[in-house]
Amino acid sequence: MKIICLKRSAVYYILIGLVLGFCFMMAPLYHKPVYRDREQWEKTGAVVWEANVREKVVALTFDDGPSPTFTEEILDLLAKYGAKATFFVMGKQAEMYPAIIQREFNEGHEIGNHTYNHPEVNQIPFHELKADLIRAHQVIFNIIGADMKLFRPTSGFYDEKVVKVANLLHYKVVIWTWGQDSRDWTKVSGERIALRIMETIKPGNILLFHDQGGDHSNTIKALEILLPVLKEKGYRFITVSALLQKSL
Ligand SMILES: [Zn+2]
Repeated sequence: MKIICLKRSAVYYILIGLVLGFCFMMAPLYHKPVYRDREQWEKTGAVVWEANVREKVVALTFDDGPSPTFTEEILDLLAKYGAKATFFVMGKQAEMYPAIIQREFNEGHEIGNHTYNHPEVNQIPFHELKADLIRAHQVIFNIIGADMKLFRPTSGFYDEKVVKVANLLHYKVVIWTWGQDSRDWTKVSGERIALRIMETIKPGNILLFHDQGGDHSNTIKALEILLPVLKEKGYRFITVSALLQKSL
């Protein structure tokens, strides 16, 4: 009887050993960051690059502002052509130029979060990114009295961490249409920016510009050319949220 008991306990220990061994082997899989490609992210609806629309509508977006030098000139141009845009602003800039944020909002443009301090989002931990976004959110909320719904990560970087923070704070992550980065932060001329966009633009595109950080007279020049030409071709310029609402 005693021998049988020993045998039973031996089997018991072996089973426990096997279960623990299996768990040990599988553990890295649970901690391994999940990689999802663009198609997988698009299916979740948490990250967007562009919209699939029937109408001739596109979204102009401006990052890093507001700027005391360039933003108001851009707002004047948008008003002249009845265009609405989305400004992904930095909390730090908004704090310095609240009247420009207020004007953007009053004129029907959308304001999105582009962090407070512009950290590289892939280089900071979860809690720091979360704190930075909350700080920017509060600054903007105190100016316009409304919540922002969109977040554009710095350098357009997205991964599980970035999307998780954005989701937690009820933001949709907005990148831009591949190929519609104006690269207006380089020395490229406004004429070249406009030409390339006019050749490649499609309904539903989200275009990337900047209104702060360096000389953005090229951005203004590009808009001066683009807005009347695209309007003539039947395009309308609407906010990112309005564009996404039209998505099929
Ligand atoms: Zn930026």
